[in-house]
Amino acid sequence: MSSIHRFFIKPEQIKGSFVTLGQPQAHQIRNVLRMHPGDKVIVLDNSGWEYIVELREIERDEVKGEVIEKRLNRSEPRTKVTLYQALLKGEHFEFALQKGTELGVVSFVPLISERCIVGDVDYVEKRRERWERIIAEAAEQSGRGVLPRLEEPVLFAKACRDLKLRGSFAVMPWEGEKKLSLKEALAQGGKPFSVSILIGPEGGFSEREAEMARRYGIITVSLGPRILRAETAGVVASAIILYELGDMRP
Ligand code: SAH
Repeated sequence: MSSIHRFFIKPEQIKGSFVTLGQPQAHQIRNVLRMHPGDKVIVLDNSGWEYIVELREIERDEVKGEVIEKRLNRSEPRTKVTLYQALLKGEHFEFALQKGTELGVVSFVPLISERCIVGDVDYVEKRRERWERIIAEAAEQSGRGVLPRLEEPVLFAKACRDLKLRGSFAVMPWEGEKKLSLKEALAQGGKPFSVSILIGPEGGFSEREAEMARRYGIITVSLGPRILRAETAGVVASAIILYELGDMRP
């Protein structure tokens, strides 16, 4: 990856060819990166375009620059992966957000399932800002062109219904699945363009949840004979899907 720094901004921060960055990016540019007028950064307005910007004025709370080139970002995966990750304690959920973003997940849905230890809407609302920052930083660092979305938390049963209504191709890694691998499920699904993944919490999904998922057309799959931690499973399943569907090539 090139060492030029990348910043996601709001579209209204670009006016014609002039760009204004506020906090905390001004602090990052001035005090952390110690950049100077004439230095270049890339800004992204979440449209899929990226703008190479030459810095003009670097103040404490505001940085101004001028767009010198506009180009299409080419690092978004063709395959759209949505990760329904059951809420996890401590930093584990953040790990899944960060690594999922690096890999190319387009959307994260906090999932509330039977065995979730933490699991109310409030838990997510209190952390939303922090989680969005983790996603943005991972997206900037990894060169993403579009910020992954952080959706509202949903109950397991609602997630099943939503997926069925949308006709989404969905897989649910489940330790109880003894026959079908993720690779086989993807092949049987005709290498779909968009895939939803459901990952359980620390204590896993219950048998009842696995049955419910199947009734709604969600395919239970195995990730092999070793039990992965929940945050590992989400990241690994995302990587396998992106790899199998050809999105991990130069
Ligand atoms: N119930 C397990 C741990 C759950 S692992 C126990 O305590 O023994 C957390 C989640 O990761 C699971 O719900 C599942 O979605 C996924 N997972 C982990 N390892 C897996 C594997 N080998 N196959 C399929 N899913 C797996």
